[in-house]
Amino acid sequence: MDTLRRPLIAGNWKMNLDHLQSIAFVQKLAWALKDANYQANEVEIGVFPPFTDLRSVQTLINADSLPFALGAQDLSMHDEGAHTGDISGAFLRALECEYVITGHSERRADHGETDEVVAAKTHAAIKHALVPIICVGESAEDLELHGASKVPCDQLRVVLASLAPTDTYVVAYEPIWAIGSGQAATSSQAQDVARALRDVIRELHGDSAADSTRILYGGSVKSGNIAGFMKKDDVDGALVGGASLSVDEFSAIARFPQHVTLDQEN
Ligand code: PEP
Repeated sequence: MDTLRRPLIAGNWKMNLDHLQSIAFVQKLAWALKDANYQANEVEIGVFPPFTDLRSVQTLINADSLPFALGAQDLSMHDEGAHTGDISGAFLRALECEYVITGHSERRADHGETDEVVAAKTHAAIKHALVPIICVGESAEDLELHGASKVPCDQLRVVLASLAPTDTYVVAYEPIWAIGSGQAATSSQAQDVARALRDVIRELHGDSAADSTRILYGGSVKSGNIAGFMKKDDVDGALVGGASLSVDEFSAIARFPQHVTLDQEN
């Protein structure tokens, strides 16, 4: 973690919690963080509910001035029109979403999203003033065949080719083998790939983009391992799946600067 980049802890709820459950969850999360003296200036928290919850969560965040950024889990590459079931980035922006996830491995697997589709969606996000969180990561087979960095770096190159060096984006390194498996990468593995991804940004978009872009690690992040990741120079936060559905776990992850384990390696 570089002190110039504000850490981001992003909770990807996936297809969990309906709009009523989302309201209760966000209220409890806000109370838990307030009780624990969470400092919003130190760490940014983002919540990424399903589309059907966005309006409810937006209303709650606004009404109670909660310190949460709102994001969506996907968007269409199109602005509007005959695309049944798709959601435009313009609609997300109208709901005051700040972020949108692109290229999550579950969308690549379940919906056949190629790097080119991810690039088009990421471009659409920027067009609609959303900050894309571009997910990249290798499978267990890729890891065996090519090592950890090659596939994520290749994926990132395709997406960055559709963006300008001045665009604002976040990159999430999410090894597929670590997602939902309980087997996180080590902090050193995460650092090595995050550094390689930052080098790709430097090569394609220059020093300023490379130094200011936040790179997250995702894959079985928990309160017990977050501090080890955040100690690493090139890891600027986490994309959290399963643990983002527990108020206690997610609030503990977001309070990583307070962890007494900050000096421990994982
Ligand atoms: C994810 O799907 O983005 C993710 C990181 O999931 P989990 O934290 O459950 O591994």
